[in-house]
This record gives sequence, C-alpha cells and structure tokens, in this order.
Amino acid sequence: MKYKHLFGPVASRRLGISLGVDLVPYKYCPLNCVYCEVQSTTHLQTKREAFYPVTEILAELDDFMLDRPHLDYITFSGAGEPTLNSSIKEIILYIKSHYPEYKLALLTNGVLLSNDEVLEEIMHCDVILPSLDAASQKVYEKVNRPQSGLSVSDQIAGLIKLRRLYAGQIWLEVFIVPDITDTPQELSLLRDAIQEISPDLVQLNSLDRPGAEEWVKAASTQRLKEIKSFMSEELRMPIEIIAKIVTPPEAQAPDEEIVNLIRGSLSRRDSTAEDLAFMLDIHINEISKILRVLSAEDKLQATRKARGVCYSWKS
Ligand code: SF4
Repeated sequence: MKYKHLFGPVASRRLGISLGVDLVPYKYCPLNCVYCEVQSTTHLQTKREAFYPVTEILAELDDFMLDRPHLDYITFSGAGEPTLNSSIKEIILYIKSHYPEYKLALLTNGVLLSNDEVLEEIMHCDVILPSLDAASQKVYEKVNRPQSGLSVSDQIAGLIKLRRLYAGQIWLEVFIVPDITDTPQELSLLRDAIQEISPDLVQLNSLDRPGAEEWVKAASTQRLKEIKSFMSEELRMPIEIIAKIVTPPEAQAPDEEIVNLIRGSLSRRDSTAEDLAFMLDIHINEISKILRVLSAEDKLQATRKARGVCYSWKS
C-alpha cells in the first residue's frame, strides 16, 4: 500500500524510532517561523478542518501495523500543525484502543492549546512536545510570524493550562535564533514563562539545515551551553541541548535505497526538499530527516535560490 499520511519510521533525535503520521496537507500552519525547515507556510491559519476522511488515515495505519513493527513512538507531526486537523481526537482514540502497546506523541507549535476543545482532544497522547521560542510579543512576531491577532501570552496561558490538565509528559522545545531569541531580556522572560509552564523537560534546539529565511543562523554549541546554564539557575526540570544530531543507538540509519535515489537525483540536478519529495514520491518529512543526516555527514551542498533551498550531491 502506498502511504499518503504515514512517513518513516524515521530515526528521530527526540523520539527514537518514530512512525510519523501527517494529518494536514503541505503547508497549513498558524505560524510561519523564520527557521522552518519545511520552508514558508502557504496556508497561514488557525481554522481547523477535517482535511481528509478519517478512514483514509486509519486504513494506512492498520496496513502498516499489521505485523506490529518495533516503534518507540507513533508521532503526529508533519509539514504543518497537526492540531489543525479537527478529527485528531478520533484518530488518537482509535490508535489508543487498537494499538495500546504503542506510545503516542504529538509535536505541536502550541498555538491551538489556548483552545479548550483542542486541549481536551489531545489528552490521551503519552507525550506532548510543544514549542515556545519567545515570551515577548515583539520577538514572537519576528521569529514565529504568527497569523495576525495571535498573541504569545495566549500561547503561554494555553501551555500552563495544558500542564494543569494533562497527566502525560510535556517536553518543551525552545528554538534559539541567535541575537533575537537569546538576548538577556528575552531569555529572562522565557525562563519565567517556562517556570510557570513547568514542563517535564526543556529541549534547546537550533538550526540544522537551511531554514525559511537565509539570515537565520545556528547558535554555537558554546552559546547553547550558556543558555542552558542560565536556564538551570532557576528552572528545576532537566534541560538538554538537542541541536546537534545525536543518533539514538537503537535508531535505524536512513534507508539505503532512499539515500541512493536521493544521491542519483542530486548528482544529476540540484533540487529542493519539496522537489525530491515530489519526484521520488516520498513524504516531505522523510526527505527532510534524511537531508538533515546527509548534511551532517557533509555529503550535500545547500544553495539558496529563487525557488528555495536547493541541494546538490558533493562529488
Ligand atoms: S517550524 Fe513548525 S510551527 Fe513553525 S512554521 Fe514550520 S511547521 Fe509551522
């Protein structure tokens, strides 16, 4: 069966061997982050939609799970924001009732957590991984470029409420954009917000491969360590740096067949991640993860062109 909604399993830095379930089309999101590795948001919205028949997604899951593969997580993620899918609760309940031995994770930008209905719908996930990159409206707008009218204080309030109502694990990702989100003032506000949210874990991230905007640079390891140390002065939860590729020991290397297809394609002509996904008929998220690994192995040359970030294979 050819999958339209599933990708992987991929070796994920945060979740080990993870089967991705993509609930929204490319690229629906209430944010348009400057660092987004799946490039600019084309549908900037908070409006929730069914997008696909639920039966279509569940049929793919049933097919994939037939021989009960080894997975650390089934993960809602994708080239957009999963909570925009108004059928998410039905899908969560189906997975928990049909595949109770698997853990379920939700990667979310956290915007819709200020909506009580959404909060109630995601309660059965085992781990929720929301993001919070800024605590002031000015920096939020500069880095996350939200749909007009969204406020970071609502997003923070939603995260605080999530903590109050949700018994599972919350792993909060903080993406550092040097000189913007890591000024002393912003870091101090962020630390206060995180204190109030009280997640189980804070994960500091930074750029791995070209983001939506060329000017975004990666934070150095030294800077990330300084930020971790600053946060640790006040915060009592664990804080880890996830910005560099750390391959979980049990994780699978990228599929060799797909790597060969990518190599063949990029040796002939440079392409964006979206071009590759289309040409090779492989999910954009799977392509993105493999490009990240190949970039870390210094096998790719990335060049920004009018049509986006183009990759070529280094000879
Ligand atoms: S990084 Fe996530 S939240 Fe930001 S624009 Fe990309 S998909 Fe949306």
